[in-house]
Amino acid sequence: MQPRKLHGVITTATPESSEEERKPEKCLIVTEREVPDLSGAQLLVKVKATAINRADIMQRHGRYPPPPGETEILGLECAGEVVEVGPGCKRDWKRGDRVMALVGGGGYADLCIVEEACTIPIPENWTFEQAAAVPEAWLTASQLLMFVAQAKAGDWVLIHAGASGVGLAAVQIATKVIGAKAICTAGSQEKLDACIARGAAEALNYKDAEGAFSERVLQITEGHGVDVILDCIGGSMYEQNAKCLAVDARWVIYGTLGGTKVPTFDLRVLMGKRASMLASTLRNRDLSYKASLVKNLEQHIMPRFISRECEPVIGKVFYSLESIPEAHRFVESNANIGKVVVSLTD
Ligand code: NAP
Repeated sequence: MQPRKLHGVITTATPESSEEERKPEKCLIVTEREVPDLSGAQLLVKVKATAINRADIMQRHGRYPPPPGETEILGLECAGEVVEVGPGCKRDWKRGDRVMALVGGGGYADLCIVEEACTIPIPENWTFEQAAAVPEAWLTASQLLMFVAQAKAGDWVLIHAGASGVGLAAVQIATKVIGAKAICTAGSQEKLDACIARGAAEALNYKDAEGAFSERVLQITEGHGVDVILDCIGGSMYEQNAKCLAVDARWVIYGTLGGTKVPTFDLRVLMGKRASMLASTLRNRDLSYKASLVKNLEQHIMPRFISRECEPVIGKVFYSLESIPEAHRFVESNANIGKVVVSLTD
């Protein structure tokens, strides 16, 4: 029998590549690969939509290699139809079943192998584009809030990059699932409005007042400060974050869009507030941990999707694997509100 082929997007950039060579249209290429055999509890999915993540951009630059054993094809999530069911699968999958999945790589392709433990059936009335906007953003946001920070009802939660894919998922989970109160930061009025529309009590433009948002946060919380910070910015916001921690705050670092270094780090800031600084990743977690995140999402968030209290937010849709370089450029320009999705429907 002829080996089956799939088409997927890889990067030709390496850590040594020049800036020119790391441009999306220079290094992202569609290539052909053999479809590997399924092993254990895996599914082969015909991808109908995938989505762009910041990690894909780092991978494109040659600075974030896939974890050992993962495909070199980019893409951390997909939505599509089941084509083949592995021998170890437990659910009663049929060809054509609609599924969304978190993957360690391989989402930017027309066929993708997914672990059954990382899949969720797509609700009946949803499009593939809506489904592709869920796995990475909503599993990350629920992990940060519910597993890492253990946010509870009544907590004040400060969410930076509030209008990002993860940010708009976090606002909804914090306010509608957990019953916490959210303050977001973002860089434009349109983005602030999007945060408020999804449940934030307040949204602040971090570009105002030279980035000094902590005073406003203390006013809004009547001096209490924030119990949880979801921080994907890091360096540039460190000082302001430190100034608005509540007692027993959990400050979760999960990205460094504003730099990895802080000039000084005064440990008394954490001591004085009995604050915990935590850090989290998703891609390199083991399968059983990811499975527990997926179960949590199915139990606590899928019902809110069905009742329409929560919704995946799509900023823009691109079409075809060939449009992925353009989609990368769009994300890198910080233009998106919510997720950037790539549709592969025929
Ligand atoms: P996204 O949709 O691409 O949005 C990111 C937004 O961050 C930008 O649109 C921009 O909005 C803001 N931003 C960029 N640079 C900034 C800076 N220097 N200072 C302040 N704001 C800045 O992002 P995403 O895909 O949701 O991901 C958000 C972050 O989470 C990324 O850092 C990503 O790497 C991280 N992440 C981590 C994990 C994990 O498990 N650790 C998992 C998924 C994602 P404004 O216009 O508001 O500036």
